[in-house]
Amino acid sequence: MTSQEIQNRFITIISCSRLIKVQCGDVTRAQLLFDKSTKKTLVMYGAMMKGYIKNNSATNAIDLFKEVKNPNEVMVNLVFNACAQLATEYELNLLKSISSVISSSFYSNHYVLTSLIDAFIKCGDVKSAKSLFDKSTRKTLPMYGALMAGLTINDQEEQAIAIFNEIPLNELHRENHSEKKNLLFEKKTDCLEANVTIYLCLIKALAKLGIFEQAQSFVQQIPSSVLADQRIRNALIHMWGKVGSVDEARRIFENISQLDHIGWTAMINSYGLNGMGVEAVKLFHQMPKEFINDLTYVCVLNACSHSGLVDVARSIFNNIQKKTEIIYTTMIDCLSRRAAFEEAQQIIEQFERDQAPALTIYMPLLSGARNQKNTKLSQEVVDRMQKLFPNMKSSLVAASILLANVYASSGDIEKATDIKIELHKSGGKKQIGVTVTDIDGKLWKFRAHDRSHAESAEIHEQADRMSKRIIEHGHKYDASWIVRPVQPDETIETLLCGHSERLAMAAHFIRNRKPKRIQMTKNLRMCGDCHEVTKLVALIYQCEIVVRDANRIHHFNMNGQCSCQDYF
Ligand SMILES: [Zn+2]
Ligand SMILES: [Zn+2]
Repeated sequence: MTSQEIQNRFITIISCSRLIKVQCGDVTRAQLLFDKSTKKTLVMYGAMMKGYIKNNSATNAIDLFKEVKNPNEVMVNLVFNACAQLATEYELNLLKSISSVISSSFYSNHYVLTSLIDAFIKCGDVKSAKSLFDKSTRKTLPMYGALMAGLTINDQEEQAIAIFNEIPLNELHRENHSEKKNLLFEKKTDCLEANVTIYLCLIKALAKLGIFEQAQSFVQQIPSSVLADQRIRNALIHMWGKVGSVDEARRIFENISQLDHIGWTAMINSYGLNGMGVEAVKLFHQMPKEFINDLTYVCVLNACSHSGLVDVARSIFNNIQKKTEIIYTTMIDCLSRRAAFEEAQQIIEQFERDQAPALTIYMPLLSGARNQKNTKLSQEVVDRMQKLFPNMKSSLVAASILLANVYASSGDIEKATDIKIELHKSGGKKQIGVTVTDIDGKLWKFRAHDRSHAESAEIHEQADRMSKRIIEHGHKYDASWIVRPVQPDETIETLLCGHSERLAMAAHFIRNRKPKRIQMTKNLRMCGDCHEVTKLVALIYQCEIVVRDANRIHHFNMNGQCSCQDYF
């Protein structure tokens, strides 16, 4: 074969395999031809790199890239994609070094720039991605989308929504995209598709933010052509569930004529998150069997777990043929919430007979032991975790904090303090609790004992007034939820009254004297005392209160009850 023939055959193999999922055999055949070729062109290098990336062999693509002295834009674009696929510290450094030496003209190619932004985000460097984005003079929808997705994954959903607001309207709702398909980069520039992608990013950010008013105002802006897309509808079911509006989720679910597994699972999850376990299980049994996958099992078991339906969960669990780690974890959570610790431990043993121990399956057991103030079991679990997973530092910090809380809540403040001092020495940091809420169309954020707002003095006065009324209704502050020694200038009441969700409620009552509905999102779990207090606030002030915490969504009704029936 002449080198031209080799090149032609090689390109044929890669081009054909491009259409379908690349098979290992194709890449091997292509590689043989590539190695044989004495005259390798940049096009061949690019095609070979693409073959490797599609075949999940990004390392080979990077190695190949390094062989070339003057790579073209296509190769640079591909090496960024390869880095995004692997996304470790090594690739991040590689990205930094490649992006500092490539020709400045490459930066005006928006395909290359989008890939670089995406790669920085996947490697965890949002700052570099954001600064590249800011510098770009021609921002395209995929570029906005890449940044929004990255911000949301990195817990900056508010910024993601702010980026959406920066998209010029003519860019977003352009009916006829005049741009020609760029064959070299093989990207679709279909206008509807680009819009669907950007709205999916927005809906994900809104779901994570969890504030009903914000979700509602943005959803009204979605054009009907985009709303007709199944992926958008599925994402909306999920989003409405996450913002505590099951009715909206169900309305969309019932209007989809051809449901797929994602739609079914999202609806089951929406029920589960909102404490409607019975409805979740009912829907699960109606779901076509061929659609059920691991995630469906996790969602339905989770729904049982949050509604105390242990028997139902047990029967579903026993009928699952192939149980994954996350399915085991959810079942253990379900049992531990009901204090069925012996059975939970048997399930852990069952898991460890077939698979290597996993840290995640111990966390729900520990959390259940904490709820029961069971110091003995908590200590045993943490000891076992430390022995089995000595290198998983951040998870061990979370476990130790839970352990300290168990000791504190059972009255052993000294032991709790010892653990916290130990954690502080080892550099482990406790996550700070933040509550977010929408008041008059503006997002407010509160930390515990927050005094950063202009109205802080009024907010604290209101929190005190609320506290007095709650006490009149017979509330006794529960000191067991305080996890540190009380300082001389503090009381149990002042410590608990400063929790972020109480300040958020107080702010609502100042701004709007008789709110009918308050909704908020908290990044950590609500403490038991705040849970009791919120039930009373809903009753006394006749206001529906919805709180999404790290675990679930609580609907506090005006009759003084919570939808979680105190399984939280
Ligand atoms: Zn609290
Ligand atoms: Zn609740």
